[in-house]
Amino acid sequence: MKIAIDGPGGAGKSTVAKRLADELGMTYIDTGAMYRAVALAVHRRGLSTGDADAVRGLLGFIRLGIAHEAATGRQLIYLNGEDVSDAIRTPQISLGASDVSKIPEVRLAMVELQRGIASGADVVMDGRDIGTFVFPDASRKYFLTASPETRARRRFLELTAKGQSVTFEQCLSELLVRDENDSNRAFAPLKAADDALLVETDDMTEDEVVAALRADLLNLGLCGAGP
Ligand code: C5P
Repeated sequence: MKIAIDGPGGAGKSTVAKRLADELGMTYIDTGAMYRAVALAVHRRGLSTGDADAVRGLLGFIRLGIAHEAATGRQLIYLNGEDVSDAIRTPQISLGASDVSKIPEVRLAMVELQRGIASGADVVMDGRDIGTFVFPDASRKYFLTASPETRARRRFLELTAKGQSVTFEQCLSELLVRDENDSNRAFAPLKAADDALLVETDDMTEDEVVAALRADLLNLGLCGAGP
């Protein structure tokens, strides 16, 4: 079974996808982490994520791997063997990921990796193009969204809780730039699939979103009522 959860940054996709996967005994895959790891590799080489030729040239030297922490199920991402799961969570890398994700060769390499990891497994995958491009035949597709202000507030709380020094305004402007980039790129843009269930999460808690998705899956006969 494949469950696709797409939507803009800060809509709550990753926490909801992870919890849903845990509850249903499925594997959680965060595809944004892969684009972030590519951006990190580009930065570390001292190159610009906006330089598509340079990024394309580096692509062959980037080996990504994912694993899941046994105790928590948290996804870890490896860049050429190094665990970069924390290093990719900065505003600079968020914007860099949005840059590199415009490059078709990068997208195709990431999609191949995503399909490979998911083959033969039951997965809840979150991203921007999962329902439209990676798994157009997904068992169920969701598109989570919320206003830019709600998403920026969530992102601000998440980053400051981790001790990062950011302002609400920085979070908001970063999300707006990424929304614009991700929605307007030519290849596999951020877009709700025609058959996705749209979930506006502004006035919902995380628990309520997870419960709504579970209720929908139960209604469709795609999961049981158990814990
Ligand atoms: O989901 P996250 O915020 O970690 O994604 C970082 C960036 O990676 C997004 O802004 C987007 O540009 C890109 N991305 C993408 N396709 C995906 C997942 C992420 O283009 N499936």
